[in-house]
Amino acid sequence: MAKKCLGVREDTGDPCKRSAGKGSDFCFAHRSQEGDERIPYLQHDVVHCPEDGQKLSYIPMDNQFVCDMCGGVLQNAKDINPMALESILELPEVADEGLEIRCPTCSTNNDKTESLLQLAFGEFFISDFFAVEWEFTTGSGHLARHFQGVSNVGHCKVCGSTWFCGSGDLDASGTKISQKFKKLTWRDAFRRIRKSGNLWKLLGKGSERGIFGGGNPFGEEEQSRLRESRLRAIDWVTEREERDDARLCRYVDSSGERCNKSKSQKGSDYCYKHRPK
Ligand SMILES: [Zn+2]
Ligand SMILES: [Zn+2]
Ligand SMILES: [Zn+2]
Ligand SMILES: [Zn+2]
Repeated sequence: MAKKCLGVREDTGDPCKRSAGKGSDFCFAHRSQEGDERIPYLQHDVVHCPEDGQKLSYIPMDNQFVCDMCGGVLQNAKDINPMALESILELPEVADEGLEIRCPTCSTNNDKTESLLQLAFGEFFISDFFAVEWEFTTGSGHLARHFQGVSNVGHCKVCGSTWFCGSGDLDASGTKISQKFKKLTWRDAFRRIRKSGNLWKLLGKGSERGIFGGGNPFGEEEQSRLRESRLRAIDWVTEREERDDARLCRYVDSSGERCNKSKSQKGSDYCYKHRPK
């Protein structure tokens, strides 16, 4: 029986189902992963999500690990685009004492002596978090849907890994983000970084706008555009809620659910069914 390919899908990290080619551990499509030292160890060196404990999937295309459950992304020190990291570290720091997220890389570190030492000094908790705006679009044409929000991104000073927290359950306009969309939280930002290739590294800071067309997704300019658009979305939601509040029947049932029918007529605060007799 032919050996199974050790490779994973470039975009999703799912294990390949094809068999390996002659004299190789990989199928024809995954030959390029032969040089990726992480691939053979994926089955053994499992990295877990620091927030929900789910096994992280390795995405070769972006050199990163993604959590299918919450959409969190892990990039190791040597894999993150240095300009992206530099931009993130300049964003507003999150001053939340309650943010206790362990560095996934440090907590899976196999070097026992080092690990014990780290454990003694703060249990691998990431100390620096930054508020980073994100947006992504699903589908296309009239099915296209746009989501945006802000999530914490933590940088581990010990090993240099960066953990991008997922979207959470709702986007800025209150739209529910389904399980399968959560893992897209950071996709579009990394897609833009990938497209820029090494050009960015080569040309350095200040060249971002030209390279990305829309700017560096983690740069100050793009981040403030996203922030403004997110705050506008929140305003619209508040306005819509106020409009609905003025328009809808005031009746609240025993479970606390508000009646969603319109008020029956001018001067009445209730729908036809709930108007006081
Ligand atoms: Zn394969
Ligand atoms: Zn997770
Ligand atoms: Zn670390
Ligand atoms: Zn009613």
